[in-house]
Amino acid sequence: MARLDGKVALITGAASGIGKAIAELYAREGAAVAIADINQQAAAAAAAAIEAASGRAIGVAMDVTDEQAVDAGTDAVVRAFGHLDVLISNAGVQIVNPIESFPLADWKKMLAIHLDGAFLTTRAALRHMYKGDRGGTVIYMGSAHSHEASVLKAPYVTAKHGLLGLARTLAKEGAPHNVRSHVICPGFVRTPLVEKQIPEQARELGISEEEVIRNVMLKHTVDGVFTTLDDVAQVALFLAAFPSAALTGQSLLVSHGWHMQ
Ligand code: NAD
Repeated sequence: MARLDGKVALITGAASGIGKAIAELYAREGAAVAIADINQQAAAAAAAAIEAASGRAIGVAMDVTDEQAVDAGTDAVVRAFGHLDVLISNAGVQIVNPIESFPLADWKKMLAIHLDGAFLTTRAALRHMYKGDRGGTVIYMGSAHSHEASVLKAPYVTAKHGLLGLARTLAKEGAPHNVRSHVICPGFVRTPLVEKQIPEQARELGISEEEVIRNVMLKHTVDGVFTTLDDVAQVALFLAAFPSAALTGQSLLVSHGWHMQ
């Protein structure tokens, strides 16, 4: 039997990168998946690809910073699939700049996508998960930057640390309703989000792109190796399939040893 048979998962930012890899693995493991993304076309294409491989998926147009869009999109998923068991709050972007010249508008945009988005999708999901104390699992896509800082990434590091607080609060509030929460904290994974940063950081730091990879991104790993999409997706599968609340309120680093807790 597949490990997520009968489960319904809503995954934000699932039209690309990590979210997409989780959606594909979840679908292979029997879950019906909602690919929620601000990029409506890419979400529809990702859902169609899963359906073509005999999975169950729908694309949902959702800007996670838009309260109405989040509520309506989440309700639409429950209408389509009957209930909601797993929320992966994953949508994210990166903007790099030193603090002294960080535009306030970019700071606010980062906190809105990463923190308002996590809050709004959680609130919308709980309205369904709390019904009859059916319960569920909420997984936030944190980062090694939920535990470590790097130069040029003030709002990203701030927001990713903030997700630990939300997940821990939810672990306590959700327990009586059978809701568990976790933060997955990947090291660097070569997605579009990271590919964009390599030349940006090289420019800001005045070093080559190879040096950004070797001396910035992978410097603190134990083996100088990138984390893969499948590494992160397998951890998301393990957490969603875990049978009890023995595991809740935790953050798991998937980072080749970058930051050991
Ligand atoms: P990605 O750029 O490949 O995918 C991000 C997705 O989020 C895109 O499809 C984009 O359209 C969507 N998105 C952006 N803003 C949105 C919004 N307002 N509403 C809905 N969707 C929106 O990036 P990724 O690397 O797969 O990142 C996914 C998550 O993983 C992010 O939260 C990121 O911070 C986190 N993360 C990534 C890495 C890495 O190395 N790639 C490491 C640690 C954590």
